[in-house]
Amino acid sequence: MKKDYLKTAQKETIAIRKHIDRTYQKEHSNPLYLTSSFTFDSAEEMAAVFADEQEGNIYSRYSNPNVQELIDKVAILENAESGWATSSGMAAVFTTFAALLQSGDHIVSSRSVFGSTHRLFTEIFPKWGITTTYVDALDYEGYKNAIQENTKILYLETPSNPALEIIDLELVGDICKNANILFAVDNCFATPVLQRPIDLGAHISIHSTTKFMDGQGRTLGGLILGTKEIIAKIEAFARHTGPALSPFNAWIISKSIETLYLRVNHMSNTAHEIAKKLENHTAISFVKYPFLESHPNYVTAKKQMFGGGGIVTFEIKGGLEAGRNFLNKLQLFSLTPNLGDAKSIATHPASTTHSKLKPEERLAVGITDGLVRLSIGLEHIDDIWEDIEQALS
Ligand SMILES: *Cc1c(COP(=O)(O)O)cnc(C)c1O
Repeated sequence: MKKDYLKTAQKETIAIRKHIDRTYQKEHSNPLYLTSSFTFDSAEEMAAVFADEQEGNIYSRYSNPNVQELIDKVAILENAESGWATSSGMAAVFTTFAALLQSGDHIVSSRSVFGSTHRLFTEIFPKWGITTTYVDALDYEGYKNAIQENTKILYLETPSNPALEIIDLELVGDICKNANILFAVDNCFATPVLQRPIDLGAHISIHSTTKFMDGQGRTLGGLILGTKEIIAKIEAFARHTGPALSPFNAWIISKSIETLYLRVNHMSNTAHEIAKKLENHTAISFVKYPFLESHPNYVTAKKQMFGGGGIVTFEIKGGLEAGRNFLNKLQLFSLTPNLGDAKSIATHPASTTHSKLKPEERLAVGITDGLVRLSIGLEHIDDIWEDIEQALS
């Protein structure tokens, strides 16, 4: 396969065709480099690679061909200069802050962040003198006002989990530019298929590949994308602290990305249809889906996203009890905390992922007692809807 066409190819093609070089076996599917270290033909060659005078792999905590293939591929999909891969999405979030911040530094973050990220900000980073100020997801004046002299990074997730708030990336990007601070976005819910934060002003885009990128619920993984300068700092930290992604997982995730565009676009279209049907159902008090005109941030969603995504949330009438009943009645949907899977998944945040928060804390991030989160999979839409309908009845 000639590689020149990749320079001008569409992203859908890159997702499929961006490979490490074939070996002498001329395999079509990429080989798996399941090796902890790499060998050298001479002491001189080894010395040159160690001294960065010659390219080459040394040890899979530093680099590995399967891991590099995944990084290179997703970096192109998000128009990032460079990237780094980690063993999980949380390792990517942790590594980003730990590599770029020092004791005394400050983070401004949207209040609506993933549960473990919230723990990092409130329980782990304070141990090292790194503090965080939360701002309500859509409070743009609040972001401006929260930036202090020692603020180094502004962090957010959009669409947020599970309330699906859509934060205007260009607007926050400008705030960060004016304040001369870094802007990092967790792009896990959108994937490069639906949103490219770096194009919209972010310096760093973070992924849990565990979700849509694997898409079949097999592996954990994470990615950090950014400029060469930022990734050099990430690398300097990660090489010696060891959050490396396993080559086996990288091989699976890279293979999965061959179908990322097909899967995410299909899930997104089905989710949109399901959201429209839910909007007309009498057992529901509201539905939230970024591409429904009734969504409070519809205009922002249309401006910065290529599709509404695979997640739909809705409020079932009857609160906590009704939410639990709905989950118990489902037959096709899986009850599991993952998302972005080929299999449709339902969760009830108030009694599971966010049960440790006080009711008022839940409300501050948009989680009401009857809120149900659906991750729409790849099953036939008629089967998905039939299951939802019978569980609502
Ligand atoms: C799942 C998730 C993470 C953490 O990823 P893991 O791979 O589970 O460590 C971070 N952010 C968001 C938005 C997620 O959904």
